[in-house]
Amino acid sequence: MEGFAMADLRSSNVLSPELEMQAPAERQAYLGERLRATVVRAYARVPYVRTMMDRRGLSPADICRLEDLPKLPMIKKDELAQLQAADLPFGGLLVANVSGLKRIYMSPGPNYVPEPQRADFWRFRFAFAAAGFRAGDIVQNTLSYHLSPGGLMMDAGLRSLGCVVIPAGVGQTDLQIRVAADVGVTGYVGTPSFLYTLLTKAREAGRPLKIKSALVTAEMLPESLRAELEDDFGIRVLQAYGTADLGLLAYECAEKKGMHVHPEAIIEIVDLETQQPAEPGQPGLLVATTFDESYPLLRFIPGDISSLAADKACPCGRTAPKLTGILGRVGDAVKVKGMFVRGSQLEEVFKKFPEVRRFQAVVTRQEHQDALIYLVELSPEVADRNALASRLSGSLREALKVRGEVQFVAPGTIGEGAKRIDDRRVWE
Ligand SMILES: [Zn+2]
Repeated sequence: MEGFAMADLRSSNVLSPELEMQAPAERQAYLGERLRATVVRAYARVPYVRTMMDRRGLSPADICRLEDLPKLPMIKKDELAQLQAADLPFGGLLVANVSGLKRIYMSPGPNYVPEPQRADFWRFRFAFAAAGFRAGDIVQNTLSYHLSPGGLMMDAGLRSLGCVVIPAGVGQTDLQIRVAADVGVTGYVGTPSFLYTLLTKAREAGRPLKIKSALVTAEMLPESLRAELEDDFGIRVLQAYGTADLGLLAYECAEKKGMHVHPEAIIEIVDLETQQPAEPGQPGLLVATTFDESYPLLRFIPGDISSLAADKACPCGRTAPKLTGILGRVGDAVKVKGMFVRGSQLEEVFKKFPEVRRFQAVVTRQEHQDALIYLVELSPEVADRNALASRLSGSLREALKVRGEVQFVAPGTIGEGAKRIDDRRVWE
């Protein structure tokens, strides 16, 4: 018989009942105290925080409870990039010495990201426990290990749970299938579409994989794909939400109806226009605060849109509020195959090709994979279209790190003022 009953899925675990299941009033007090202590430390030692608070006439004594948080200003990801550019590499936000760090990363923005000397600095172990990962699991980690922090963020969380990690990184599908089958991989981290590719190709090759737990991130997870991964392949598949600057911010429990906010972070959802707290169910800007003693980020805006779930008690026992999911990005960036694609990046590339009159990127979904097509209108005098197509797709791929297909279309196909990126994906 094909398929698995629900009982065959790995059990989902609460890593820290003290933190994840504390009563709401206790949580308020706990987060308020973390905030207070963080602001005291940051005011004393982070020049940016001191200036920002002085300008508003705030002293650390003004921020001593959770309710005081909105007194502080918010900071956008690109504002952090500007601060850093003015005072390289960390914009004066890092309390520790640069030479005492474990690693330094660069995330798109570009933003420099410090990793202090701490086990699981980005707190991902909570999400892995929820997704059923256990000590002794052999885990294929398919996020990138170089320059951007994704791969090593996951690596640190897995190792703190006692998992064995295969630092597979991105791409090389056939090699990855071989490693997963040879070594007997039981866990997976990466995008859901790549997991699906590995599983189906391995099965076709007659070497089905033994993956039992998967933590997926960086792209949408359609429920139809999750159901197939659970029922057909017997894998517990849960999602996590984190960012390069902040680490893990929210993660799903086995109920799969939203992502619990991490017990050691504060998430606010604010109205896009008024910047006042959005009601549960109403989409708004996600604002995150983290408390690390050497790199605290106060009211940071990664640029994602989300909303808070209305339900109070979750059957899993966790008491932190839930995000309904990540609903989109502010501005015109969309995530394709796990990478952000911005209209401005496309503009940069197409600007170098005077033959191009108009362009539009179209994102669709085919067989649980993102597909990226560039519709391009040319001026009539172009002689060798094939050569141009290959130069264009080469430049686009280099700039965006995502493979796409160039399609020439007749003049007038792309409307005046059309979106530079048309996201036609339907998530079911
Ligand atoms: Zn739950």
